[in-house]
Amino acid sequence: MKIALIGNQNSGKTTTFNALTGSNQYVGNWPGVTVEKKEGRIKGHNDVILTDLPGIYSLSAYSPEEKVSRQYIFTEKPDGIINLVDGSNLERNLFLTTQLLELGIPMVIAFNFNDIVEKHGDLIDFAKLEKALHVKVIQVSALKKVGVEKVADTIIDAIKNGERPEPLHPFSGTVEHALAHIEEAVLHSLDRSKQRWFSVKLFERDAETIESLNVSPETLSHIEEDIKAAENEAGDDSKSIITTERFNYISSLLKSVYIKRNAPKLTTSDKIDRIVTNKWLALPIFAAVIFIVYYISISTIGTFLTDFVNDTVFGEWIIPNVSSFLENRGVTAWLQSLITDGIIAGVGAVLGFVPQMMTLFLLLSVLEECGYMSRIAFILDRIFRHFGLSGKSFIPMLIGTGCGVPGIMAARPIENESDRRMTIMTTTFMPCSAKLPVISLIAGSFFSESSFVAPSAYFLGIASVIISGIMLKKTSMFRTMPSPFVLELPNYHLPSAYAIIKTTWDRTWSFIKRAGSVILLSTIAVWLLSSFGVVNGSFRMLTEAEREMSILSYIGRAISWLFIPLGWGEWRMGVATFLGLIAKENIVSSLGVLYGFAEIAENGEEMWRTLKTAFTPIQGYSFLAFNLLCAPCVAAIGAIKREMNSPKWTLGAIGYQCLYAWCIACIINNIGALITSGTFTGWTIISFAIIALMIFMLVRPYKKMEERI
Ligand code: GDP
Ligand code: MG
Repeated sequence: MKIALIGNQNSGKTTTFNALTGSNQYVGNWPGVTVEKKEGRIKGHNDVILTDLPGIYSLSAYSPEEKVSRQYIFTEKPDGIINLVDGSNLERNLFLTTQLLELGIPMVIAFNFNDIVEKHGDLIDFAKLEKALHVKVIQVSALKKVGVEKVADTIIDAIKNGERPEPLHPFSGTVEHALAHIEEAVLHSLDRSKQRWFSVKLFERDAETIESLNVSPETLSHIEEDIKAAENEAGDDSKSIITTERFNYISSLLKSVYIKRNAPKLTTSDKIDRIVTNKWLALPIFAAVIFIVYYISISTIGTFLTDFVNDTVFGEWIIPNVSSFLENRGVTAWLQSLITDGIIAGVGAVLGFVPQMMTLFLLLSVLEECGYMSRIAFILDRIFRHFGLSGKSFIPMLIGTGCGVPGIMAARPIENESDRRMTIMTTTFMPCSAKLPVISLIAGSFFSESSFVAPSAYFLGIASVIISGIMLKKTSMFRTMPSPFVLELPNYHLPSAYAIIKTTWDRTWSFIKRAGSVILLSTIAVWLLSSFGVVNGSFRMLTEAEREMSILSYIGRAISWLFIPLGWGEWRMGVATFLGLIAKENIVSSLGVLYGFAEIAENGEEMWRTLKTAFTPIQGYSFLAFNLLCAPCVAAIGAIKREMNSPKWTLGAIGYQCLYAWCIACIINNIGALITSGTFTGWTIISFAIIALMIFMLVRPYKKMEERI
């Protein structure tokens, strides 16, 4: 006999599993994935094998956990299910329960965490709950090992007696109508208790189910009529209809079984949340927090340290000493140049920003550790959903502020395929840590008086995600409604110093390591290609004045014309942007080599003065915006390719990012120039046209979904 433990994450499955099996367990992995598999024999029932399935929130098949669970149910065919339910998060837990009940497999609910429910002063009417769900509900405390044996005995009895749960609750009229037609057309040969699950899945157009049942195209187009009819009536896609109706059913059920006896006692965490996640205050507080974090790390403490490293450590100690050392040893001129103008100028330019990055990493990890970051996800979910975007998109964005690669991968749990694709496309708009040096560089060399530039990069990222989301949602490729997002807010707690220092150090160290590897190699390549060229028919090392004829300048000019409307169509900037595709830190390191970071002014300051004199602040910001928003580095492009799993979508994503970046930078440069110096050109007109087009894309109505918006 095989029994499966199924439930949400942290509902107490493993605790129950351990209580029931004792030491009779084997731990391994599910085939093909790194998800832990635990099996064991139930104490006192040696013929019963219990499996601890991974924690899931729904029976769709998007995350590896869900895939494993679903596969287990359909290929291993357990005889019974123990559904662990966390009573203190009933709404979310019952969402899975409603799906499990449709499987037609004997089942029992182990109602855990009742101690927490009681602590809140609430009460559950178990008799009513049992009656409504048509399955036995048994109170357990997995932690105290209370009631777990009763659960085992009950499910074993239910299996022996062949008690199968009744199909649970009716959906709305048109949905039931469609389900009945589907059952009649496709599922008539199946056992009645198994039909519900398959008819719902077919209604949701679940590809896996269609394939496993081998439904013929004629039958499919036949049932499609019923699905379409239900969709038209609800003004929503079939998947969302089912999800919404499940949640509606659960909340009406909870009204009658969940008795809030006392007003819940507010914990300190709750009190903080009342302010921090307040409808009106949440956004200003969020903006202020991000502003302060960036202000401290990029504009005050961080800058102080960075200036020290740049001006004193590099400017006064390293560069002069290394130069005189090399000169005294009589090292050949080209090697001297490679070391000072190449390696130190390039790698040094990147390393110079380490203090700022460390400060930023430190502050961000404090926010993560204390629990505020999950609040940001919660706050932004409300805003995103307002625009028809999935709140789940924010988790990838949050991770993307560290590095785009795990950010893109974090989009996996998003169930809706088009939402997932859109999240992958927009996640890298967020400034990842490799983009920070560029932000700092532009903020420092062009906007020394303003503290708004650095945080503005973060907000530009969020705004771009939202703007792109709204525009793309209105195209036919992305037209679906977001699935509801359930997020648990952990309590606030004092961050542990160890965890903060460890995260900060890990991130800083990986940044430094990259400076010593990819960036170092790219820097040497930049120096070589920019120091050699053909002059008067002979190939040789160039003098400073001849740089315009270097090999690199030709490469740069081949692409830099694209950036003329953006205000920085100059070969050095083109090269930096292009090399940014290898690693975003390369932008700063190549500018360091090409604009002479290692050349010190008389007073040892203003390392970036050449850059500052070559461009206006508007042009500098346009450069920043383009590089923040355009295609990410190759590592992230690789991640996009893997996650999209389609060359067409990968190219589409990269193309969209570059086009969007170009349009925004074009607007910034030309409208900015119009405002600051009254310059009016053909590009100003084009910029206005782009703005008009974007506004049109933003405000035009959602087709088909109007009712919901
Ligand atoms: P799983 O993710 O479903 O395997 O959940 P675990 O069995 O790992 O349990 C998650 C956490 O909840 C653990 O820290 C348990 O000690 C705790 N826990 C389990 N059951 C109860 C309970 O009935 N009451 C309380 N307060 N905590 C519990
Ligand atoms: Mg577990």
